[in-house]
Amino acid sequence: MKNSVILIGSRLKRYQQRNTVCQLAAPLWPWVAVTLVMAIAAVTTAQPVGGFAIDASLTNGTPSDSSDDLLDAARWSDSPGSYVDDRVRGLGGGLEYSISPEFCSRLIPRFIDPPSCDELRLSIQQTFDLWTQDHPKLKFEDVSGRVAPALPPSWVGDPWRGFGAEIDILALNPNQYANVSGYGAWTQFWYLYADPMGTNGRVLPGNSLTSADIVINSWACFYLDPAMAVDGCNNFGLLLLHETGHVFGLDHSNRADNGYFDSDSDSLNAILIDCESPHKGLELSQFFDPRSVMNLDQWDPEQDKMELSADDLGALRFLYPVCSEPEALLE
Ligand SMILES: [Zn+2]
Repeated sequence: MKNSVILIGSRLKRYQQRNTVCQLAAPLWPWVAVTLVMAIAAVTTAQPVGGFAIDASLTNGTPSDSSDDLLDAARWSDSPGSYVDDRVRGLGGGLEYSISPEFCSRLIPRFIDPPSCDELRLSIQQTFDLWTQDHPKLKFEDVSGRVAPALPPSWVGDPWRGFGAEIDILALNPNQYANVSGYGAWTQFWYLYADPMGTNGRVLPGNSLTSADIVINSWACFYLDPAMAVDGCNNFGLLLLHETGHVFGLDHSNRADNGYFDSDSDSLNAILIDCESPHKGLELSQFFDPRSVMNLDQWDPEQDKMELSADDLGALRFLYPVCSEPEALLE
């Protein structure tokens, strides 16, 4: 039903893709593509889980042992040079995002409280800023109009090299992009098997993100004002806040088959991060953080708050650690 996409009872869907033919000259790394999905919906049964989680495909070579998964985390590399000017994919120049030209015309009619295009674009930047506002080395940069957003064409053999901007934001219906069928949005990210330069100035073990694509379902229903909340309709800001967690390399913090990491057994306090070796002191946790925006099954419509939890922020600091806050500002 085109006008009432109901987004309830979602499950994480993903696929992993490895290239078997290495036809490009330069890098010899193997590659991986990961797809993540998001749906905002009514609350379902709570599961005892907690901490934060990275993608389940990041196993550090030990699929049956989650305890070392953090050594395989995917991050944006803190490389100098921007994509728009230098064609370097990473944190240099900010995380550069491009919104498709059709985004507003397709989505605005789907809002209960239709915003102007400027308001919609502003809400995107403001949502990104909620993740980065207290972080000295992360920022989002709107490069719409300078780089055309693009999903990897189905025929390319190496989608992980990155297409479009670092972050592409599109509005597509399920006929145009089947992954969004039944969901409010779908985010996929791509990365290389290459140790990234950390925001702490050290090479960190794991993988380097090259691009992320956020596809909003243009047949779904949205609202910006939480007071307009109705069943089956998406709080656009909260949806994007969640998708942004995937852009950084986070997975749902309530997945039964993934590892949740915390620095202690209290899921509501701050996660302590060793800025030099961010995986140190983090252990698998069995306690849940009901406030995490990455906690898919426990969202309560009554708590539609544009806030990140302590675990969300701890996860960000694990992925993007900083040891010297004042001097580290990007610009
Ligand atoms: Zn999700």
